[in-house]
Amino acid sequence: MADKTFLNWPFFDERHRTLSEELEAWCAANLGAIDHSDTDAACRALVAGLGEAGFLRHSAVDPEGGGLDVRSLCLIRETLARHDGLADFAFAMQGLGTGAISLFGTDDQKRRWLTQTRAGAAISAFALTEPQSGSDVAASTLTAEEDGDDFILNGEKTWISNGGIAGLYTLFARTGEGPGAKGLSAFIVPAGLPGFEVVERLEVIAPHPLGRLKFTDCRIPKDALLGERGQGFRIAMSVLDVFRSTVAAAALGFARRALDEALERVTTRQVQGAPLFDLQMVQGHIADMALDVDAAALLVYRAAWTKDSGAPRVTREAAMAKLFATDQAQQVIDRAVQLHGGDGVRKGQKVEELYRDIRALRIYEGASDVQRVVIARQALAMHQGG
Ligand SMILES: Cc1cc2nc3c(=O)[nH]c(=O)nc-3n(C[C@H](O)[C@H](O)[C@H](O)COP(=O)(O)OP(=O)(O)OC[C@H]3O[C@@H](n4cnc5c(N)ncnc54)[C@H](O)[C@@H]3O)c2cc1C
Repeated sequence: MADKTFLNWPFFDERHRTLSEELEAWCAANLGAIDHSDTDAACRALVAGLGEAGFLRHSAVDPEGGGLDVRSLCLIRETLARHDGLADFAFAMQGLGTGAISLFGTDDQKRRWLTQTRAGAAISAFALTEPQSGSDVAASTLTAEEDGDDFILNGEKTWISNGGIAGLYTLFARTGEGPGAKGLSAFIVPAGLPGFEVVERLEVIAPHPLGRLKFTDCRIPKDALLGERGQGFRIAMSVLDVFRSTVAAAALGFARRALDEALERVTTRQVQGAPLFDLQMVQGHIADMALDVDAAALLVYRAAWTKDSGAPRVTREAAMAKLFATDQAQQVIDRAVQLHGGDGVRKGQKVEELYRDIRALRIYEGASDVQRVVIARQALAMHQGG
């Protein structure tokens, strides 16, 4: 059984413990019925189910007032990831895809879009990456040119999670107020507009809906602008500042599940007439896994608690949480695979699924090396008294 003692850490309130219990019960009752053979359909069902049960209320701000609770976001992602990677994905994207609306939207934009996404009635996506600009966001080239009461979009986005099934996309486009990062703006783009096509679906090792989007003279009204013109880069980074900790939380959920699976295996598998666990080298692996899980949890919930306590930015804390939790989850899961022997790489085994689930988390929302650069710059700034 997964360790829940962390819920007694001072980062949490009673409402977090209640949320954790309710979600645990929902997962046990509902996730088994989701058919994963059709990824799009599974995602739609998961969003609808999480919306109906009320958990998506945590994914975006209440249009009538209130903020995001990052500890709840992290707790939900950790719990869902421990049960089912696709369920975590479905929840996560409702938050990431609408994060810019939660943080920078007008009251009208919040009411129009968040009412739907928080109920599970619309699926959202976050469209930042382009074929020639991933880590280097400032090199984005998709343009939004002003034309009368509209903007006209031209260009491509790729690697867009929920691309193909989303009803709304938060899109970052070049509006040209300045060079590089200074010339980007954010927009809300509904699916189905003339000139907006999903031209390719991408398949990855842990299946989830992903698409390449193409915009050809696609008109969007001026009120689709999110926040101020020229602030797109800052908006994207502010959203990632919040949601990066939640990627770390998902990695933590995968790692915790891998530790559970490994413990189950080594206590039931007999080698040389005794459980595998009796071998001291096996105990060494288990100890390192348990240590990584707790250290990751401390970093994840430190970042979440810091943000919830009113810090305007948690760039350093979130980068540390993401780097450590995702890289160490990879190690924890690899050890779990190893301790399962041949079964560890067998299709249908949970640890084999986790091995595939974890990999992309070290790449998206800022690759591990990019997080290292962020942490180093923050350390230098602190050293210099900045
Ligand atoms: C499964 C999946 C889902 C995704 N979902 C979305 C989504 O919903 N929306 C979206 O906009 N994007 C999404 N992405 C895209 C993702 O954000 C990019 O893949 C990521 O930012 C890396 O960009 P890139 O692939 O162009 O790699 P590159 O930018 O080419 O980087 C390749 C590697 O170079 C190294 N590197 C790059 N820059 C630096 C640096 N400054 N310092 C040190 N090392 C560096 C890193 O090791 C990096 O992994 C998704 C990607 C994946 C794999």
